[in-house]
Amino acid sequence: MTEPTPASLADRVREGDVRFHELEEHADADTAAAARRRLVGETADADVDALGEYAFDAADAHGSNIENMVGAVQVPMGVAGPVAVDGGALSGERYLPMATTEGALVASINRGCSVVNDAGGATARVTKSGMTRAPVFRVADVAEAEALVSWVRDNEATLREAAESTTSHGELLDVTPYVVGNNVFLRFRYDTKDAMGMNMVTIATREACDAIEAETDASLVALSGNLCSDKKPAAINAVEGRGRSVSADVEIPREVVEERLHTTPESVAEINTRKNLVGSAKAGGLGFNAHVANAVAAMFLATGQDEAQVVEGANAITTAETTPDGDLYLSVSLASLEVGTVGGGTKLPTQAAGLDVLGVRGGGDPAGSNGDALAEAIAVGALAGELSLLAALGSRHLSSAHADLGR
Ligand code: NAP
Repeated sequence: MTEPTPASLADRVREGDVRFHELEEHADADTAAAARRRLVGETADADVDALGEYAFDAADAHGSNIENMVGAVQVPMGVAGPVAVDGGALSGERYLPMATTEGALVASINRGCSVVNDAGGATARVTKSGMTRAPVFRVADVAEAEALVSWVRDNEATLREAAESTTSHGELLDVTPYVVGNNVFLRFRYDTKDAMGMNMVTIATREACDAIEAETDASLVALSGNLCSDKKPAAINAVEGRGRSVSADVEIPREVVEERLHTTPESVAEINTRKNLVGSAKAGGLGFNAHVANAVAAMFLATGQDEAQVVEGANAITTAETTPDGDLYLSVSLASLEVGTVGGGTKLPTQAAGLDVLGVRGGGDPAGSNGDALAEAIAVGALAGELSLLAALGSRHLSSAHADLGR
């Protein structure tokens, strides 16, 4: 039998002999993707050959990372730094890998890193950790709702045993109930070590829900009741945290602010208050920062994170003040940074290389330390980005930098 070619496979799809999404059952994953490019290019009347330029084995991505694969999008990757970090899990000088198409972004964060270094480096710490899943149950009325809440409080050991039977790394930390009439939401929170953990906690919570339905009158309506809250802007993540809650700060001598950034600590602090705090409050925003999403998104793409979780990752507050000595204190706190160094997109070769640049690929020793280190690196990138942008606004340099670099 002759080996299938992209052309012969495309013909078979056109003839209705093979289904578009089942091409990998009839050829290797690269040939299947090439066949789809033919079909998509033909339907769209577009030249999509560039999508075939990729440097990983399609078989590694098919099924676990992508379906209906046609190729890959390439995003340029740069680095900012190296920047000196004193972290709970990440210490030393690190280049920060960033994938983006926004001109001036890496240059801006690089400038922030350089100033952070002149100030002696940034400090970073993960202060809370826990990935959540919050199923919603239907109960008869509020009396039954209270009975379910009491049962959960009395039976956390049962829930822990059920949940942890599905994973060797995950640990159930707590279960927090929320009642709305005859709806009961149970927010399960897990230590997922070096995994971002969404698959892990979804599987574990399903097992715990089975135990609840077996022992109580409650009926599971949905394994995710949106109080988790995944990939949606939500105050609960800002207050309670999700994934890693991580903070970074730096104290920059006045002369460094003046000589390197052409502004003053007072100006940076005032802009932060009026823009990031007052402006965001007036806008009804959840993120009280200048552009934390930029560092989060660029480092998520560079290290194989789930890019949709930039929604929660950018849930950050920036503070700036003048110290009693007249220097600048700047901090950024990301409440819900969902990151992992195993699983998901982290195993693809270019993303794994991004993790290698930081020295955090794979499982950490102890487990969880690589995930913490990645969170600290992203927080420092966000800090450098906040510093550079606030200073650019202070020196009125923002539009000229974008005119020079971004167009
Ligand atoms: P995963 O790739 O499904 O699983 C990672 C697994 O790695 C863990 O379950 C664990 O196995 C194992 N592991 C090995 N060494 C580990 C270590 N040091 N620390 C922790 N775990 C270790 O990844 P995931 O992090 O659970 O989920 C991420 C994926 O979920 C991403 O692809 C994301 O896009 C997707 N996602 C899913 C949902 C959903 O609702 N299911 C929602 C959003 C995103 P054991 O559990 O056996 O210990």
